[in-house]
Amino acid sequence: MALSKGVDDISVPIGQWSEKLYDVYSSRMEKRQPEEFWMNVLAHLSGIGEAIRKTHYDDLIYHASHALSWMICYVGKCNSNDDQFFHITNNLTELVGLKYPTECGHCEKRPCLCDAIGMDEVSDKAAKYGNLYNKWTWHIKDNDFTINKWMEVFKDIYGGRIHLQTMDSLGFHLLEEGGEEARAIRQLVRFRDEIELGNGIEEGFLSRLDNIDSLVTEYKQASKNIIKKEIDYPGGKKKEVVDVTVNTSDQIKYRIALCKMDLVIELADTFSWFCAVVLKLNMILNNHNFYKGIKSNYDLERRLKKEYSFKNKDGNLKCSFCKKSDCKCCYI
Ligand SMILES: [Zn+2]
Ligand SMILES: [Zn+2]
Repeated sequence: MALSKGVDDISVPIGQWSEKLYDVYSSRMEKRQPEEFWMNVLAHLSGIGEAIRKTHYDDLIYHASHALSWMICYVGKCNSNDDQFFHITNNLTELVGLKYPTECGHCEKRPCLCDAIGMDEVSDKAAKYGNLYNKWTWHIKDNDFTINKWMEVFKDIYGGRIHLQTMDSLGFHLLEEGGEEARAIRQLVRFRDEIELGNGIEEGFLSRLDNIDSLVTEYKQASKNIIKKEIDYPGGKKKEVVDVTVNTSDQIKYRIALCKMDLVIELADTFSWFCAVVLKLNMILNNHNFYKGIKSNYDLERRLKKEYSFKNKDGNLKCSFCKKSDCKCCYI
């Protein structure tokens, strides 16, 4: 059923989506760990991958809307839980905005002017995050963009590159980034399961990692002081990696700080490539008269509203499956 024009025109800040989805799934969310939320994101990203392979745009936008809702709930879980390894006070917009403060997180330009080969070789990330953080405080902090606002931002930064790349290539990159967030999560899970608080890792330290402001400072310290080791790399090259055989409490703290920053940055990268895929879908549809009458079906926020029965800005959402405002689905 088509949504009325008024409802379609309301663009909801991502923070509000988070609150509304939490209301539907709160009983489910409380029992889940953050990593379980990300597994659901990955399940839908793989659905996007399959939809790209089959050129099945209905499936693509379906999985995109559910991947996004799980991404929003994942951050909501990290915001609300008391697991200090994963706890973070910033919303999705603020986390994405650290890497993308309305410009490219690599060349710091809008539109992006990156030299892709040189970009992969940049090693001083601490200095880069320091610069990005200064921009973040001006453009992002305490802000809560809507989904469409982020789409516009990424279109301005990467529109030219998205135009040149194929959907397959964008989809590959999206899956790469989703896996990198899973890797960051895996590392934090290991710390959570094996590090005893009070054993040199005090709660005060972990609480300094739970917000962008002090995380950037701790990350800077950690990247300066972490002990690294040179290892052989294919092609006779050497590569410096963190020496994971050192287990003093200071070094473990530095590793945790680096991993927490990875969690933020890889989430931002996943979100940016996710937006790139949705933008590419819309570019493809714009080029085909055939889709003209049904193009609005592929608008991500509209689709999200449809999936979760969004009726008005202040109303409740309903579960996409059981259609209840307090989800009654079993074993989801
Ligand atoms: Zn760039
Ligand atoms: Zn349900």
